Amino acid sequence: MRRLLAALLLAAAVAPLARAATVTVLNLDGPSEGFNDPSPVAPIGGNNGVTLGQQRLLAFQHAADLWGAVLQSNVPILVDATFDPDQCDSTSAILGSAAPNTVDRDTPGAPRAGVWFTQALANSCAGVDNEPTEDDIVASFNSAIGTTCAFPITWYYGFDANPGANQIDFVSVVLHELTHGLGFLSLVDLDTGAKFVGRDDAFMVWLGNDATGIAFPAMSNAQRVSASTSTGNLTWTGPVVVAGSSFLTHGRHANGHVEMYAPPTIEPGSSVSHYSDSLTPDELMEPVYTVPTHDLTLTLAALRDMGWNGCVVATTTTVTSSTTTTVFPPEVCNDLVDNDHNGLIDCADPACASDPSCGPCAAGGSFSAVACQLGALATRTLTAADVGPLQGSLADRAMRAQQLADAARTSCAGGGTRRARAKLRAGLKQLAQFNRRINSRIGRRNIGPQRAADLIGKAQRIQLDMHALARALLCPTSAD
Ligand SMILES: [Zn+2]
Repeated sequence: MRRLLAALLLAAAVAPLARAATVTVLNLDGPSEGFNDPSPVAPIGGNNGVTLGQQRLLAFQHAADLWGAVLQSNVPILVDATFDPDQCDSTSAILGSAAPNTVDRDTPGAPRAGVWFTQALANSCAGVDNEPTEDDIVASFNSAIGTTCAFPITWYYGFDANPGANQIDFVSVVLHELTHGLGFLSLVDLDTGAKFVGRDDAFMVWLGNDATGIAFPAMSNAQRVSASTSTGNLTWTGPVVVAGSSFLTHGRHANGHVEMYAPPTIEPGSSVSHYSDSLTPDELMEPVYTVPTHDLTLTLAALRDMGWNGCVVATTTTVTSSTTTTVFPPEVCNDLVDNDHNGLIDCADPACASDPSCGPCAAGGSFSAVACQLGALATRTLTAADVGPLQGSLADRAMRAQQLADAARTSCAGGGTRRARAKLRAGLKQLAQFNRRINSRIGRRNIGPQRAADLIGKAQRIQLDMHALARALLCPTSAD
């Protein structure tokens, strides 16, 4: 344990210095509604807004500032925020929901190779905005509560965590939802157990089943489904949470692992992506609001396990008393990453010579075929003939992203659809623009292979983002 800590400190010392983060709330509501509701209100609990809309926005920004004070990022975190009518009746109401806008992998400085990170975390590690045309988090809250619906509990917009008996603390709920957008959610498909686009995400790598001792990434799909309903056995195993959770008097195992929410029947949007509701004292990231809390301690610990505030995560690297042996993983032949750090990517690496994905480069093929072409392109001067097949291939994959989005739209009831369509259109447009750019630059013979590879890689990331959109935005992680 002490050696692990020393390794973390060393790595933190050489990482770029980052200041506290700026979390910017973007009010996307229309005139006279939501955050712009002109109804007069009296200041309360430190919130000096004089209209309902002002108080909502000030309270939201207060929560954003609480997160900004403890996160480190030189890249502003942009939150698309709306306050719209949502499900609400006399007995139950949806408080709000939030999700990361996009997820990225293998962006510069990413704490793990080949793992999905939320955009805000990937940006903080890159030190630049990887997706300058994309905001980081999309959040929505229910404006029907306390206004037009019969739900007997209303929003409390004060800053002091002191709601009345029939009030819900809005700042607590925003803190909770922003946490999902920052990375506290699993991208695993809980119906099938499948990893998101076949890869681990930064959250699920720290989930484990304490009954079997198997970590989420190592499980079969069926084992992940089983673990997700194994109440009391699904746990968070990350070292920062383990070290910082001894204050819990219930819901923490003897090995320090902290229980995650795993009811016997999957609850979409709630299962797995929350701490267990058995934790004592009550925690911010439990699935159901119980008490106001602005305490970010255990939540921040989980975010740090994922890589926040230093972009370093514990790994299985062995450190002996005198020697640190860093063993790079073997090359993966179709992931656009130089996994083994020998300067050669995918099919350009001799390690992939006999890999099935590195056969003759067929046009319009799979992701592997594109990676194959990319590897080949990076080794020689390009001609205009090189780019035609790539165009066809990217167009083909854009089409499949569209199909995926259509399928998601059918299977996911609920919000996000209109916005998702708009974003999908924007993504397809970006993809087409990149195609044109690559084509024209190669046509003028003023672009090197590496630059072409960069451009193509960027286009591929956009395409992967569109997959992420279909899964993470069309099926927003609802909460509470
Ligand atoms: Zn939640």
